[in-house]
Amino acid sequence: ETVGQRECDYFMLCLQWPGTICKSTHHCCSSNGCCRSQPLTHFTIHGLWPNYDDGSWPACCSHSDFDIKKVSSLVPELEKYWPSLYCSSPSLCFGGKGLFWAHEWEKHGTCSFPVIQDEYDYFSTVLDLYSKYNVTRILSSAGILASNGDRYPLGDVISTIKNAFGASPIVVCRHGSVEELRLCFSKDFKPRDCTMGSDIIDDASYLRSSCPRYVSLPTYAP
Ligand code: 5GP
Ligand code: 5GP
Repeated sequence: ETVGQRECDYFMLCLQWPGTICKSTHHCCSSNGCCRSQPLTHFTIHGLWPNYDDGSWPACCSHSDFDIKKVSSLVPELEKYWPSLYCSSPSLCFGGKGLFWAHEWEKHGTCSFPVIQDEYDYFSTVLDLYSKYNVTRILSSAGILASNGDRYPLGDVISTIKNAFGASPIVVCRHGSVEELRLCFSKDFKPRDCTMGSDIIDDASYLRSSCPRYVSLPTYAP
C-alpha cells in the first residue's frame, strides 16, 4: 500500500456477500446491516478502489472530509445498496472514526482524481456501475443462488461472470463462502480483467486463491 497522488491505472468495484460477512461476525447491531428480518440475498457495495497495474494502490490522497450533504440525493440508494455490515465504525484516514461511506471516500475516493471529480461523482459512479452490472442476477441466471446447502464450482462462478461481464473478476472467500466479488474497469469504465495473465482455473490458481474448488453463497438470519 502506498500513499501517493499519481493517477491510477484502473478501478476495482468491490462487492460483498452479506451472508458470508454476517455469518462470520454475527454483527447484529443495525436493522440496516446484518440484523434484519429479511436476510440480504444479493451482493452489496464495499467500495470502488483505484489501483496501479503493478499491484500497488494509492490510499488517503487528500484531506477531503466526507460530507453527507453533498450526496443527500443519493442516500436512499446508498442505504439500500451500500449498507455497513459491521458494527464498529471504521477509522478515517486523518484520525477519528466515521461511516463506512466516509472511510471508502477518504481512503479510496480521494485517490480517484482526475477520473472522478468529487465526492458526488464518486458515489454516483459507484451506484451507476453497481446497477449496470448486476452480478447477483448474472449468477442467478446460471443457477448460482443464495443457499445454505449448495456449493458451486469456483470455476463456474468465474466463467459465468466472465461471459456476462466480459472480463475476469476476483473472488475472495472466507471459510469456503464467497465474501467478495471484484469487477475491474479501465479508466473509461469499460470492463477489464482484474487478473493479468492466465485466468485458467488450475491447481496453482487454487493455491493462490482464498477460495476452495466449491464455494457457497450462504444466507444469514439473526
Ligand atoms: P485485505 O488485506 O483485507 O484484503 O484488505 C484490507 C484493505 O486494504 C481493504 O479494505 C482495502 O482498503 C485495501 N486493499 C486491499 N486490496 C486492495 C486493492 O487491490 N486495491 C486497493 N485500492 N485497496 C486494496
Ligand atoms: P477497507 O477494507 O475498504 O479498507 O475498509 C473497510 C473498513 O470499513 C474496515 O475498517 C471495516 O471495519 C469497516 N466496515 C464497516 N462496514 C463494513 C462492511 O460492511 N464491509 C467491510 N468490508 N468493511 C466494513
